Amino acid sequence: MSGAPERLDRFMGRANAAYYASRDPFSDFVTSPEISQIFGEILGAWVAVVRQSLPAGAFCLAEAGPGRGTLMSDVLRVLSRVPGGLSGVSVHLVETSLRLREVQKQALARFDVPVIWHDAVEELPEQPFVLLGNEFLDALPVRQFVRSGAGWRERFVQGADWVLCPAEDVPPELAGREAGEGEIVEISPLSLAAVGRLGRVLSRVPGVVLLCDYGTSRSLPGDSLQALRGGRPADPLEHPGEADLTAHVDFQAVAQAAVSAGAVACASVTQGRFLEVLGARVRLAQLCQAAPEEAAGLTAGLDRLMAPDRMGHLFRVLVLHSPGLPVPPGCSAGTDAGESEWG
Ligand code: SAH
Repeated sequence: MSGAPERLDRFMGRANAAYYASRDPFSDFVTSPEISQIFGEILGAWVAVVRQSLPAGAFCLAEAGPGRGTLMSDVLRVLSRVPGGLSGVSVHLVETSLRLREVQKQALARFDVPVIWHDAVEELPEQPFVLLGNEFLDALPVRQFVRSGAGWRERFVQGADWVLCPAEDVPPELAGREAGEGEIVEISPLSLAAVGRLGRVLSRVPGVVLLCDYGTSRSLPGDSLQALRGGRPADPLEHPGEADLTAHVDFQAVAQAAVSAGAVACASVTQGRFLEVLGARVRLAQLCQAAPEEAAGLTAGLDRLMAPDRMGHLFRVLVLHSPGLPVPPGCSAGTDAGESEWG
């Protein structure tokens, strides 16, 4: 035990900043664009179609949390094959890790487009845009509240132990959340603020945002904080800065934050369904035909992204767009109300 208790989101923010600044996160976990090129290719084709619904001219292609730059590189490769696909395009990367910025610079050097880095989404230029974010929200800190009688207590961290303290404040998002005595409710104020800012940009500038992450379509109680250290599940409170800390994304709360800020939210869909509808298996067949010796690896990679018992159901895609734009491919209007939890 050491020091005063620290609120969980402050602990998690500090731990992850140290982790991303000093480590190669990809030694601990692997993401969809790193597993299969088809993920970025499908999103590249999707971006090309979505751009048609935006005003012509300068186009800002943005990504939040671009990691090694693999997704953006696959997207640009597809766009470079579409006639005029790269005309007027500037690439904008929201990335806080200086080390990863360097990796991204190298990954994108072969494309003839300007690449500009930003610390936050508010810095994006006021131009028609598409923003992609894969496994961006799950890294942002959460607070955990515990139902206690008619009120809430909050989980703090002291040393490597949990301590339950009176809630410092009760965020508005907590109002109306159902939880039995002793149950945990997670709120990610930074995620909701980031999406709220994106929602405000969407209300002013024509654009479309695609967020892909693991989480639930509806707000549910429960503790989803997890740590990966050295590629293995670890105690989230031990060795801060040496483990990747993540929490499930509450897509209902995220969509609500965007809508409150003036954007339109489509119903979130599972990653498996999104890739299916947009033709991932057709692309797989093409690639396997062109390189039969790689067919087994390509098939296994896409299966990992799409199979319900792997990343196909746990991962979800949420699309937000400016009012007045058509519903983008692979999405349907409205909320998740009619969909089963993992549907
Ligand atoms: N999208 C990539 C990487 C996911 S890892 C992929 O799919 O492979 C999370 C990414 O978000 C890393 O690039 C990390 O440096 C970045 N990141 C974490 N917190 C951030 C923040 N607050 N603002 C911007 N980027 C952040």
